[in-house]
Amino acid sequence: MKVWLDGVLRDSADTAIPCLTHTLHYGTGVFEGIRSYSGPQGCFIFRLRDHLERLQASANTLRVTMPYSIDEMEEAVQTLLRVNELGDSYIRPLVFIGEGSMSLDVRTPPGNRVRTLIAAWEWKSYFAGTPALGLSVRLGTWRRNFPHSGLNRAKAVGFYVNSYLAHADATACGYDEAILVDEGDHLAEATAANIFLVRNNGLVTPTTDAALAGITRDTMIEIARGLGFSVEERDIRPAEIFRADHVFLTGTACEVVPVAKVNGQPIGNDAGAQVVRDLAALYQRAVRNDYTPSRKPASSDWCTPHLRSSTETRNGIVSNA
Ligand code: PMP
Repeated sequence: MKVWLDGVLRDSADTAIPCLTHTLHYGTGVFEGIRSYSGPQGCFIFRLRDHLERLQASANTLRVTMPYSIDEMEEAVQTLLRVNELGDSYIRPLVFIGEGSMSLDVRTPPGNRVRTLIAAWEWKSYFAGTPALGLSVRLGTWRRNFPHSGLNRAKAVGFYVNSYLAHADATACGYDEAILVDEGDHLAEATAANIFLVRNNGLVTPTTDAALAGITRDTMIEIARGLGFSVEERDIRPAEIFRADHVFLTGTACEVVPVAKVNGQPIGNDAGAQVVRDLAALYQRAVRNDYTPSRKPASSDWCTPHLRSSTETRNGIVSNA
């Protein structure tokens, strides 16, 4: 497998990241998770620009200047998918701080180089082996860290220790996933996904105060509103989960996944489950450029065609090692 490291394609086994890489010690990097899909209309990278803009916003939050422009990153993603001959794939850009100062002040001369990695691989199912009815989740044991600090708006490497711990705790106790709450004990999100409740043919989802502003979340809001559903973004008490018609998670990696049980208790009803199936099916069409929510402004292009031949490359900034 080839990866793209600082503008050069390399074998992934040959990347040799130095052991004093700042991010390895302090979690000072930012990353994204993006998917490409192949379907009847061709191969597309879903909301590539939105993901790269969020990457840049995450970098800004950490006061890191990205070495490559969004256009350059877009082209690098295209090149990587092409050389690895990937159609359906998961794409992982990571901007990280390299060697130099080992203090937290990375401005100390000569300064630490900011580095950029993009990897891509086939990752069919995030929750492998999950029953079709949905996930069994553990609710309420873990709190989202740093709510209101702004850090939850960044996809920062160090932030994921909180997700990792909540997920490890849930799986050790036999659950598939954890739902975290915020400082005020309202629902926040899952460990790498946002949460929605189906209620009376409408959706309710937590605000992004203590949750990542997920791109799948935004896509789902557009799809649902386009169908005439109401979508409320508000504080949600955990007990509401047990009164919901259904509950589902959204994320680039996991896509749209129903929740079947919360703390061992079955939740939802048949009508709610059907709503989730319908929304999940429309999501699967939207990511393949086969469905456009009616409210979506025509100018916002969600599906970037995946350029399959090198002659289609636009700037030619990517070289082979
Ligand atoms: N919350 C967290 C903590 C996440 O890591 C993710 C995955 N990026 C999400 C929500 C969902 O975001 P998206 O839909 O943009 O993948």
